[in-house]
Amino acid sequence: LWPVIAIDGPSASGKGSVAERVAKAFGFHYLDSGALYRLLAYAAYTQSVSWSDAAKLAVIVPSMDIRFEGGEVFLNGEHVSVHIRSEQMGKGASEVAVHPEVRTALLQTQRNFRKAPGLVGDGRDIGSVIFPDAALKVFLTAGVETRAQRRYDQLISRGDTADYETILEDLRQRDLRDTQRSSAPLKQLPDAMLVDTTKMNIVEAVDMIVEAFKK
Ligand code: C5P
Repeated sequence: LWPVIAIDGPSASGKGSVAERVAKAFGFHYLDSGALYRLLAYAAYTQSVSWSDAAKLAVIVPSMDIRFEGGEVFLNGEHVSVHIRSEQMGKGASEVAVHPEVRTALLQTQRNFRKAPGLVGDGRDIGSVIFPDAALKVFLTAGVETRAQRRYDQLISRGDTADYETILEDLRQRDLRDTQRSSAPLKQLPDAMLVDTTKMNIVEAVDMIVEAFKK
């Protein structure tokens, strides 16, 4: 079996950027598991299936032809990167993700990304349910104010408008929802390495993970 590096952590911890860079460092594949939940939310939306209809959502999953190519996402041949990155689909993703039926349906989809020479995966359950035998598990986090500041900077640099206090409040609420939800709550696994980036930049975080995997 090809090695897996599993990265989880709270919203806006930078797990996506870190995971992608770690994958690049080793020439591994990268699985953005959040994108799968966003794709399902989008597919349901286009088929007028409610995000609360667990049974119908689970039926959609095997019909989805998902391809990641050069940082872009395709669903049944349609280029959907921009569509799935919206706030609306982020909300949809978090709503479809609460159904155990949906999580089970997406289990094999995620495992199929484990290919030569290895995989870096980020997201909830990736080190516990999806790849419990991961060679390295990382819990990537940062203080909530730091995460809010980074998200704010990111929005501003993209030319969007943003309000720091609103972002901070949203993150606080999301942390609460993520840690307290009954299906796949956010928590640090006992066998995960803690990487706290409150006083560390992304390059340092990547180096720390790369070094830990080499050992
Ligand atoms: O990481 P991203 O923002 O794309 O994830 C969207 C939502 O999908 C998360 O807020 C979370 O509720 C859900 N999700 C999940 N399990 C994963 C990845 C994402 O429940 N492995």
